[in-house]
Amino acid sequence: MIAPAPSDTLMEDIVGLCKRRGFIFQSSEIYGGYNGFYDYGPLGVELRNNIKQAWWRDFVQCRDDIEGLDSTIIMHPKIWKASGHVDGFSDPMVDCKESKLRYRADQLFFAPVSVNGETIGYVSVVECIDQQEVAEKAAAEMKRKMAKQGELDTIELKEYTEAKPEQYELIPSPATGKPGSLTEPREFKLMFETKVGPLADDAATAYLRPETAQGIFANYKNIVDTGRVKIPFGIAQIGKAFRNEITPRNFIFRSREFEQMEIEYFISPSADWKTLHREWIDTCTDWLVSIGLPREGISEDIHPEDKLAFYSQATTDLMFQFPHGEQELWGVACRSDYDLKQHQEHSGKSMTIFDETVKEKYVPHVIEPSLGVDRTLLAVLSAAYTEDEVPNDKGKVEKRILLKFSPKIAPVKAAIFPLLKNKPELVEVAKRLHKKLQRRWNVFYDASGAIGRRYRRQDEIGTPFGITIDFDTIEKDGTVTLRDRDTCEQRRVTEDELIKFLEEQIDG
Ligand code: ATP
Repeated sequence: MIAPAPSDTLMEDIVGLCKRRGFIFQSSEIYGGYNGFYDYGPLGVELRNNIKQAWWRDFVQCRDDIEGLDSTIIMHPKIWKASGHVDGFSDPMVDCKESKLRYRADQLFFAPVSVNGETIGYVSVVECIDQQEVAEKAAAEMKRKMAKQGELDTIELKEYTEAKPEQYELIPSPATGKPGSLTEPREFKLMFETKVGPLADDAATAYLRPETAQGIFANYKNIVDTGRVKIPFGIAQIGKAFRNEITPRNFIFRSREFEQMEIEYFISPSADWKTLHREWIDTCTDWLVSIGLPREGISEDIHPEDKLAFYSQATTDLMFQFPHGEQELWGVACRSDYDLKQHQEHSGKSMTIFDETVKEKYVPHVIEPSLGVDRTLLAVLSAAYTEDEVPNDKGKVEKRILLKFSPKIAPVKAAIFPLLKNKPELVEVAKRLHKKLQRRWNVFYDASGAIGRRYRRQDEIGTPFGITIDFDTIEKDGTVTLRDRDTCEQRRVTEDELIKFLEEQIDG
């Protein structure tokens, strides 16, 4: 479940770079920050928009079988009753009565410590990349303190949700290291509540959506009735979702306000859903690779049948090797006709569709690929973050930090530099080229500092191409120097060649 991260400090390095260069800030920082909420700065918002645009183009605009939607965040509360969220959307929570800290019970692990078969106590650990090692160290320390002779038995960590009631009193709190202060797990509702309208009574209670999917189901009839779709077809939506996560952590991986890109793909109840599910898993994997994630960093977690919700036929999560371990990035679930049937029952409106090919009316089944924008952004940042060594202007080898973003999603596509800022003829050509490219792409003009330093500043924010206007440009043949971020290789190209190259790399 938890695999070693590529680097112990990668997450810290990414968080530091994101703040330093204006990708991501802690929300409400001037008031000490607000746990579980993040703001996206100038570069972050570009990166985020590029990811969303790539997804929308590839899954909505380039496909004839998927339509787009943008539904509201607050919807009729009956939607959440019908979907099961009001009664069942919760996580198991455990409190430490002494430290007042709260844990998600499925992220808290414990194990009995035994020496030659005799249990001498318990250890506990909060889910982390080296949890086994942490637990083993704590067990060895317990044995040493109790001066027990003999061999420590293997430490087998289990989720706190699996603890027996008689064990609650014996398991130490990770906060205090002492047993006796952890409560039994209880369900904590994850939906944020709000009130709609002038009367703040119970009838006014509404929810901030915890997923975009239900907005799709609630509009399914509208889209079918508009008459453009035939089975199989999908409805796609990108939008904010909110979950009052018990322990938001790992930067933007798990936050309380985030964004999702979801598709509900409606299929015939008699379709070969297993094959279609496989096709969706492959399509989703290929898309992640197309925006620059390494294929070898992506794996599949097939949910065991006994852990599936009763209505679910199958779920496979695409996992990514994040800095804090291998974790879910994209869930691809076969949800049968559960959601539409629930809405049919609760709303009293028919959710059937007439299938022209078989001349039959039915409630379709659905395959749901559900991806988080913020998690994708973190995955992209983790895959792109690189440190290497390159020679500086004087030929001395220096450490450099670079983000190897794919040109498709890089926040800045190219930077335009006049070689010297005090030569008006260079500046004029550079500014004219900047204006020209700016009409099509997000490009950046930078005239200040040594050229090597200017390159380095762009490398650090992942700008794939540097374009330098030098004396050859104005005195000889009009060519410019095109520098590649990753290899630092430079070559001369004409303006036409430059534009063709950028088109291929960015839009191709
Ligand atoms: P997890 O098990 O990590 O809590 P989940 O299985 O509850 O995730 P889903 O309900 O399947 O997640 O949501 C679909 C996608 O939305 C996830 O794969 C993830 O990319 C994203 N997502 C879910 N919760 C969060 C969150 N709190 N912060 C950021 N992204 C999230």
